[in-house]
Amino acid sequence: MSDCFILLSAGNSKRFKSKINKQFISYKNRPLFEHSLKTAIDSNLFKKILLVSNKKINYKNIKVIKGGKERHNSTQNALNYLKNKKIKNVFIHDSARPNLSLKLLKKLKNQLKVNSAVVPYINSENSVKYKNKKKINNLDRDKVLLTQTPQCFNFKELLNLYKTNKAKITDEASLYLNNNKKIKFILGDKKNFKITTIDDLKYLNSENYYGIGFDVHRLIKNKTLYLGGVKIPFHSGLKGHSDGDVILHAIIDALLGAMRKNDIGTLFPSYSNKFKNIRSKNMLPPVLKFLNDNNYSINNIDINLICENPKVSKIRKRIIKSLSKLLSIKRNLINLKGKTVEKLGIIGKEQAIACEVICSLSK
Ligand code: ZN
Repeated sequence: MSDCFILLSAGNSKRFKSKINKQFISYKNRPLFEHSLKTAIDSNLFKKILLVSNKKINYKNIKVIKGGKERHNSTQNALNYLKNKKIKNVFIHDSARPNLSLKLLKKLKNQLKVNSAVVPYINSENSVKYKNKKKINNLDRDKVLLTQTPQCFNFKELLNLYKTNKAKITDEASLYLNNNKKIKFILGDKKNFKITTIDDLKYLNSENYYGIGFDVHRLIKNKTLYLGGVKIPFHSGLKGHSDGDVILHAIIDALLGAMRKNDIGTLFPSYSNKFKNIRSKNMLPPVLKFLNDNNYSINNIDINLICENPKVSKIRKRIIKSLSKLLSIKRNLINLKGKTVEKLGIIGKEQAIACEVICSLSK
């Protein structure tokens, strides 16, 4: 006699509102249903694993069963298949709960030794009201159980209950309660939440991206030096099509890099007269617009300014203040470090200034 894990993955996801069925949508780089499937396989707790799905899927050692119209029809199909397969207990799990843990599986299995029905639950963190006809009443939230899956049952007992069931049930625990059968409720796992709407997924799927930028410009006499959008009193300024602001150029490249949008040269071709003598701070708005339009946000920016002079310690505060304003982010998200080069090369001779930047974005 062995245990079977049944993964329900045939729902039509009415509440999900997406063209792709919820269980096949990508969550952390793999289809939603695969997460708990992998946990069940890796647990080595099951002799048999059934995947209830209306899509043809091939997995080694996994039996795929066609789903029904509603959840309870799908469960019924799986149970029918298991008849005469010498199954002791079944674990029925929703594929919309991808964060099933081995710990919870083991806890459930342990409880099945002395109970014929074990269901995990968590308490409500929200205050709960209950609508009865037109009156809304308070419920004691400490007495509210929010049930999760896997819900685990003695196979034969569940099969018998299903035989006589005509009601539309949303989980097997309801079936047990409708028939006044005893369930052992055990504390589940908050992380074992259910993904119901596409917004749940968007929130969970927020991803980080990193970008790197580098720039160097020659210093020439009779030009004003701009760094990070700040006018700096200095013996020379940076040569270039624009004001040569190496910090802003490297930041723009880092941001474009993180968004996978080529480079500053693509956005501002230096051959175009339109950008001649442009102040670099005026190159930022189109980049920031793209960033906002595509729901990116800046996590942090780290800058290395590579020069002998001016001394970074003397200009750091002003530059960070300026960048914070130009990028509309808090000052504590920006770091500026100074790096000298032991008087080596043209940077060491104060004939050029270089800058490198790394940034992190969230989407
Ligand atoms: Zn540049």
